[in-house]
Parts: sequence; structure tokens; C-alpha cells
Amino acid sequence: MARKLKSTKIPNDAARASRPARPRDRHAANPRPRGHATAAGSSKTTAPRRKAKPKAEYTSPERLHPIFAALDKLFPHAQCALHHKNAFELLVATILSAQCTDERVNKVTPHLFQTYPTPQDFAALSQPVLENEIRSTGFYRNKAKSIIGASKKIVTDFGGQVPRTMEEMLTLPGVARKTANVVLGTAYGIPTGVVVDTHVFRIAHRLKLSDEGTPEKVEQDLIKLVSPERWILFGHQVIWFGRKICAARKPLCTECPLETICDAPDKTV
Ligand code: SF4
Repeated sequence: MARKLKSTKIPNDAARASRPARPRDRHAANPRPRGHATAAGSSKTTAPRRKAKPKAEYTSPERLHPIFAALDKLFPHAQCALHHKNAFELLVATILSAQCTDERVNKVTPHLFQTYPTPQDFAALSQPVLENEIRSTGFYRNKAKSIIGASKKIVTDFGGQVPRTMEEMLTLPGVARKTANVVLGTAYGIPTGVVVDTHVFRIAHRLKLSDEGTPEKVEQDLIKLVSPERWILFGHQVIWFGRKICAARKPLCTECPLETICDAPDKTV
């Protein structure tokens, strides 16, 4: 069973979303000069930025090593936060986690898995019944369709077992590389790539490990930079790094061990 990291509490995405909207530019809300004037006589200022380096410098072993070392120190045993007891439960939980917090999914799945413990149970469910069970995770129509479709395929084509290869996983309805990497890596320990969720996508860009525009292409960049034996752990570490430190809206740059090598334009220091 996946263990839940017990660490300092941070506001989850749902909690943040419920707060009043803040100005996107924090300096607009709290104007104070931080950098140089943009034009003579102008009152506008910009944060001082480091000069961009050649792309190869951002992905050099000399820069990657401290990134891996910092992640190892911060999250030496990073694991998937979705509660599960087997590969099928993790597959269902991962499908439910799209556009939803892991906390919310973990509230829904205990009753769900207790009531419907096997792929056969899910394959036999009607769409409206499953929709009702998972409604609070959002996008419940598509998620129910994917879960029922994937369960039917697992029962008919894979003997009731979640398959163990990327190629087979991608034949399941609603399963793309991110979900497949989560299940194969976490449940089976098979390194097939790097999980690229919203946190990994954002941090790969902030740390300039990739400038690609889709998760699939970012993953292809990352698997060239990270050795296969680190693929599974690296994905989980970066996800936790995104949750605890390098958050989307307000990264804790003053507490970040990577601050000295980070040239992200939206750094807060
Ligand atoms: S310095 Fe800030 S933006 Fe850069 S990696 Fe750290 S938390 Fe993220």
C-alpha cells in the first residue's frame, strides 16, 4: 500500500481556488521598486533578471547533479499520494485525480473500492451509478466512462489484471502516458518514463529542463536527462517539490534549495 507522506501542511489546490482572487502580478498589489527602471523618467520597474544561459548549460550534468541532490535531501522516499492497495486501485485513483486534488480522491476511493473491489465489479457498473459515486472529483462523466471502459478491457483482454507494458496500458480507454507511468512505476516498479503532471510540467519549465509545450514532449526531454533507475522516484520527488515549495502561484523561493541555480522569470526573490 502506498504510504502517505506526513509532512508540513500546505494549502491544497481546492483551498487556494476558494480564496478571493489575487492580482496575478503581486507587485501590482504591493508596488515597491525591486529592479531597474524600464525607461528614463518612468516609474515602472521590473525585477532584476539573470541573463539567460545557453540551453545546454541548463541541462548539463554539473547543473543536474545539485537538482537531484536537493530533491533526494528534501524527499528521499517520495511516493504517490493516492491511496491504493493494488495496480487496479491505483489506475482508478489516477484517472479520478485528473483536474482534482489527491486529497479529494482519497476521500472518495475508500468507499468506492470497498463497494466495488475488482475490475469485474467496475466493468459491470452502469455509467449513472459510477458517476454518482465519483461526482465530487469533477469531470465525472468522462471519468466514469474511462473507468468502466478500462475495466472492461482489463477483464476481456488482460485476464482481469492491469497490464505491465506501456504499449498495453495505452490501449485502455482514458489512459495516456502520465497515467500509465504512474501505475507501471508505482504499482509494479517498472520504469517506463517520467510522470509529467501539472507540477512536473511547470517545474521542468521553471528549471529550464525543457521548453516543450506538451507533457509528452516534456517527458521525452526529461527521460534524456534523468537516468532510468531514477525515473520513478524523480517524478514523485518533483510532484512533492511542486506541492511543498515550487507552487504555481506563490513559489517559496526564499526557502528553495535550488534558488541559486533557478532562472525562472516568475521567481519571487
Ligand atoms: S527558486 Fe522559486 S521558482 Fe525557482 S525552483 Fe525554487 S521555488 Fe521554484
